[in-house]
Amino acid sequence: MGITSDQSISIFWYRRLCDGAAFLGAALLILFIFAQLSPDQTLSLFVPISAVIAATISGIGGLVGHLLHPKHQARASWIIFSFILGTILILITQSGGINSPFVALWLLVGLASGVLGISGIILTFLINSAYMGIAAWFGWLHGPTQQFILLLIASQVPLVVAYLLWHHRVFSGPGLPTTHDAAAISHLSEQLNRESLKSEIIINSIADGVMVINDQGHIQLLNPAAQTLTGWEENDAIDLDYRSVLQLLDGQDQLIERNEPVQKVLTTNESLHRDDISLRTRAEKKMLISLAISPIGTKERAYGAIAVFRDITKEKAEERQQAEFISTASHEMRTPVAAIEGYLSLALNPAVSAIDDKARDYLQKAHEATQHLGRLFQDLLTISKAEDGRLNNSPKVLDIVDFVRDQWEEQQQKALAKNLSYQFIPGPAQDGTLEGTKVIQPIFYTHVDPDRLREVIGNLIDNAIKYTTEGSVSIDITADEQNVTIGVTDTGIGIAKEDISHLFQKFYRVDSSYTREVGGTGLGLYISRKIIEDSGGQIWVQSELGKGSTFYVQLPRLSNEKAAFLEKQNAPTVPKA
Ligand code: ADP
Repeated sequence: MGITSDQSISIFWYRRLCDGAAFLGAALLILFIFAQLSPDQTLSLFVPISAVIAATISGIGGLVGHLLHPKHQARASWIIFSFILGTILILITQSGGINSPFVALWLLVGLASGVLGISGIILTFLINSAYMGIAAWFGWLHGPTQQFILLLIASQVPLVVAYLLWHHRVFSGPGLPTTHDAAAISHLSEQLNRESLKSEIIINSIADGVMVINDQGHIQLLNPAAQTLTGWEENDAIDLDYRSVLQLLDGQDQLIERNEPVQKVLTTNESLHRDDISLRTRAEKKMLISLAISPIGTKERAYGAIAVFRDITKEKAEERQQAEFISTASHEMRTPVAAIEGYLSLALNPAVSAIDDKARDYLQKAHEATQHLGRLFQDLLTISKAEDGRLNNSPKVLDIVDFVRDQWEEQQQKALAKNLSYQFIPGPAQDGTLEGTKVIQPIFYTHVDPDRLREVIGNLIDNAIKYTTEGSVSIDITADEQNVTIGVTDTGIGIAKEDISHLFQKFYRVDSSYTREVGGTGLGLYISRKIIEDSGGQIWVQSELGKGSTFYVQLPRLSNEKAAFLEKQNAPTVPKA
C-alpha cells in the first residue's frame, strides 16, 4: 500500500522525504553561502543563520534516514518531517514573517504531510495552528491582521488538499511496500539466511557424500565428502546430469543402466538402499559404496532425489575376510568331527563292539554332541556362503506340492515316534486315493533351487516335530495367481510375542527349559530367511505361546505356461529326492 497505517510509510515516500530534507538542507546552505559571498549582501533570498542550522540538521537527518534499517524507518519519517517543518517555520519567522519569500515552502510541506497518513496531517495542522497562535502573540509575522488571517487559511488549505490527495492512497488497495513490510521482509530474509547457513554447515560437515538431484536429473548440490568420493568439484558438477558424476557399476563392473537406482527413485517415488554396487570416480577408480536414495517432494510426485553414499570397500573386505575365516574353519573342522561321529557310531554298534551299559550311555551322549557340532559347522558354512553370495543358486522349475510332500514323507518316522498326528493336507495319499476316494492333487509351480528349499522346508518340519510334545503337525499348501504359500503348523510349545521378532536372527533361540533340553543351533531359521529372501519370497510365523505355531513360506508362483517354457529351456523339473 502507499501508506498502510500511521506506523508505516511506503519505502518510496520515505526516501522522497529523506531526499526533501537533504535537498532543503543543501539549498538553504548554498543560499546562505551565496548571501555571505555577495559583496553588497542584498540577496533577496536572505537565509538567517538559525534557519541554516535547522536546515543542516534536517539535511543530515535526510542523509542518515537513507542508511537506516527498515525497522527504524517508520519512526524516523516523523522526525525527518518534523525537522523539515521546523526549519521552514524558523526560516519564515526569521525572513520577514508574512512577507517571507519562503511562505510557499510552508504550503508545500503542508501538502507533503499526507505521506505520514492522517496522523501526519493532523499533527501538521496542530503545529501550524500553534505556530500561528504563538507568532500572533509575539508579533513574529509582522503584518496586517487581514494578511495574517489569509496566511492562517493558506497554511491550512494544503492540509485539506493533502488529505484529499493521500486519503485515497491511505485506504485503498495494494501498492508500494511499506517500511513495515520491508522490516518484516528483512527479518524474514535474515532468518532464512541463518537457516540456510545452518543447513550448509550441517551438510558440509556430514562425512557421507550427499548429492541433491532435481527431477530433470541435474545435480543441485554436492557436499565436500561427495566431492572427495567422486573426484568432482561442486562448481563443475552443478547442473550436470547426475550420471556423469555418480557412475554406478554392478557386480560385473558394468554401468548400471536398467533399473538405475536414482531413476528408479524418481519414477517410483520410493526410497532405496543398496550395498552391492560400486562407484566409478572421475579418475576411473572403483570403490564399493553403500548408497541410500530418497525422493524429495510429495507423496504423489518426486521433485528430485537426495543420494547419500559412503565408501564401504574396507568394511566389505573385512567382512569377506571374516566370512572366509569362518568358512575355512568350519570346513576344516567338519572332517575330524565327521570322523569322530563315525567312530562313535561304530563303538555304539553292538555288531561291531561290545561295551557295557555305562560306557554306552557316555558314548551315546558324546555321539549326540558330535552330531550337534557337525550341524553347527554345516550351518556356519552355509551362513558364510549365504552372506558373501557364494551360496549356490541353481533354480529349477519345481512342482511345489510334490516337492514338499517328499520332505514331509522323509520326516514321517520322527513324528510317528513321538505319537504325533502327522498330515499333509493338499494332496492325496501316495496311491492317489484317500480312504478310497480319488483326490486331485493341485499343481503349483515355482522356480527355486531345490537343494536350498529342501533345507528350509526340512528345517521347518524338523522344528515343528522337535518343539511339539503332543497333538499334530500338519503341512498345507495354498496359492493365488502370484504366490505359493507353504504352511507348517504344529500344536507345540508356541512362541511368545516378544521372541517372534528375533526368531529369524542369527543364533537366536527362545530360552526355556524345553528348548534347552531339545537343543539346537539357532541358525536354522536365519538360514531359511536368507534362502527364501534370496529367492524373492518371504517367511514369517504366527504363534501363540502354549498353543502352537504356523510357519509360512511364500514363493513367487510360475504359471503353467511359464513353467513349461522354462523347462523346455533346459531347466528340467528336479527328480524326486
Ligand atoms: P534351532 O531349532 O536349531 O534352535 P532355529 O533357527 O531353527 O534353530 O529356531 C530358532 C528358535 O526358534 C528355536 O530355538 C526355538 O526356540 C524357536 N522355534 C523354531 N521353531 C519352532 C516351533 N515350531 N515351535 C516353537 N518354537 C520354535
